[in-house]
Amino acid sequence: MRVSRLMLVTLRDDPAEAEIPSHKLLLRAGYIRRLAPGIYAYLPLMWRVLRKVSQVVREEMERTGALETLLPQLQPAELWQRSGRWAGYTDGEGIMFHLEDRQGRQLGLGPTHEEVITALAGDLLRSYRQLPVNLYQIQTKFRDEIRPRFGLMRGREFIMKDAYSFHADEDSLRETYAAMDGAYRRIFARCGLRAVAVEADSGAIGGSASQEFMVTAEAGEDLILTSPDGQYAANQERAVSLAPAATPLAGGALADGQGEPLSTPRQTSIEALSAAHGFLPCQVVKVLLLVARFEQGLEQPVLVSLRGDQQLNEVKLANALAARFGQTHGALLALAPLSEEGLIREGLQCLPFGFLGPQLDDRVLAGARQWQPTFLRFRDHTAASLETFVCGANSPDEHLVGATWAGLGQNPETLDLRSAQPGDRCHHDPAQTLEARRGIEVGHIFQLGRKYSTAMEARFATEAGGEEPFWMGCYGIGVSRLAQAAVEQHHDGNGICWPLAIAPYEVIVVPANVADDQQRNLAERLYDELGNAGVDVLLDDRPERAGVKFKDSELIGIPWRVVVGRGAADGRVELVERQGGGSEELAAGSLLEQLVPRIQAQRCGLSEG
Ligand code: ATP
Ligand code: MG
Repeated sequence: MRVSRLMLVTLRDDPAEAEIPSHKLLLRAGYIRRLAPGIYAYLPLMWRVLRKVSQVVREEMERTGALETLLPQLQPAELWQRSGRWAGYTDGEGIMFHLEDRQGRQLGLGPTHEEVITALAGDLLRSYRQLPVNLYQIQTKFRDEIRPRFGLMRGREFIMKDAYSFHADEDSLRETYAAMDGAYRRIFARCGLRAVAVEADSGAIGGSASQEFMVTAEAGEDLILTSPDGQYAANQERAVSLAPAATPLAGGALADGQGEPLSTPRQTSIEALSAAHGFLPCQVVKVLLLVARFEQGLEQPVLVSLRGDQQLNEVKLANALAARFGQTHGALLALAPLSEEGLIREGLQCLPFGFLGPQLDDRVLAGARQWQPTFLRFRDHTAASLETFVCGANSPDEHLVGATWAGLGQNPETLDLRSAQPGDRCHHDPAQTLEARRGIEVGHIFQLGRKYSTAMEARFATEAGGEEPFWMGCYGIGVSRLAQAAVEQHHDGNGICWPLAIAPYEVIVVPANVADDQQRNLAERLYDELGNAGVDVLLDDRPERAGVKFKDSELIGIPWRVVVGRGAADGRVELVERQGGGSEELAAGSLLEQLVPRIQAQRCGLSEG
């Protein structure tokens, strides 16, 4: 391809809409254009990258025996109602775009395809003899993300590879899950990405085991916690750890454990309270109030007690609430702090926020319009194990010192609700402490179990002659996100440094001066020869200054540049490698034999750093 025909429009300056390097570079180098928030056009260069990534994905999927398919993006609401996910995906913070057709029937635009594929499997797979089956597709997904950002990283329309497997038993599911794990590792390595596998929360998809693949990068939205020995790695949403030990409160418990009142004017934060009285945050029990809203109308106030130095992990809390109420009240639609406005809306008295304690009386909820009149009370293990502590007295400007759980008459359910933090000790080896890294989630594999097949009554005939719901797995890769993540890991001050396996073109031939016949002719000849040797090659035939063309070739990140300059008169050219910038002069006649084998090796991707 000739650069003059490439519709290449590069920008000198960083576009205002972009915050992270990969987003800036993809815009500047003419790979993508924004149409609306989270909606991007993939320009021809980008599409070549996406096709190369897709090809790697395809090859590795086929190697596992998975079958490619293409499922509808318009999905009838009825299917999602059968799985019980319609409300969760369309109400509240739901992310499914949905619409009505001319007959007034509701449809959703596919954010994911468990429902469609489970319905199909229930129809087509009748016997254990047909199992296991693994189907995959590479397709545009739609999600009305709350905060679309960072270009292709969090789009509202993006390309995903998703696969779904069906099994007669759990062992077979585990086998495919392991095969997909291997395929994922090969895909990321071949695409030149440094990715780590981490334990993950299963989120709205549900199911049991799940693992995410994270591309480590500063700009990552996820926090990953890992042990130094590499034995433990988890998304912070899911991570567990041993909290630092608490220092016992001086003076211990008072006889009745009800706590001694202490005047704490305006000391609404743990820091202010600790600083004023010499307590440590780990000696305080703090209380968080939230309201959980469920699909079938239940609005449940929740009171969570945490040790003062710990943070609530909302994902763990949401999982606990979904486990408690999911069966009876449907999906958890929203979980938000209980606010003063909320209290007013409910016709309730204001509460002394900043001075709340776990003994807060249910009577404060009496007469609520929508909310349940009693708190669901939880406490984290770290709070539960404090023998004696400081907490709010539930009246303004007052705390209690030396309280105990028994003395306060409280015995809430104890769960792991805290966020593990870097520096916490590891469960498997308390001598090691967790380290933090930021990551971009590029893939996620799940053992779904029988959640969808049970809900949607997708069953097969077993060998023993009975009928059972399928065991299922599902496996996603963000193809467009992966492509941008590669830029996040591979760029420098001059632009993108594509790993060769996914670069839009492998070589760019740049005649320094196209007005010079010798340079132009030699460049044309090398361009033809490289093309005939099966190399993806560009020819920068534009009548621009050499410096401009070099800058552009670096910005767009072509792995190899062949410069045909003054040396053309002696049949010599310069070969420059984008990554690292090393250059060498060589005879034009030996270019192919020198360059082609290197390109072939790099196509496997594994030589990329
Ligand atoms: P996230 O936590 O980042 O919102 P998710 O857990 O909802 O992602 P999955 O449902 O597991 O994502 O989707 C599979 C893969 O699709 C993800 O691992 C990610 O690489 C990609 N992906 C998800 N949402 C987006 C998006 N909005 N834009 C681009 N890629 C996405
Ligand atoms: Mg995920």
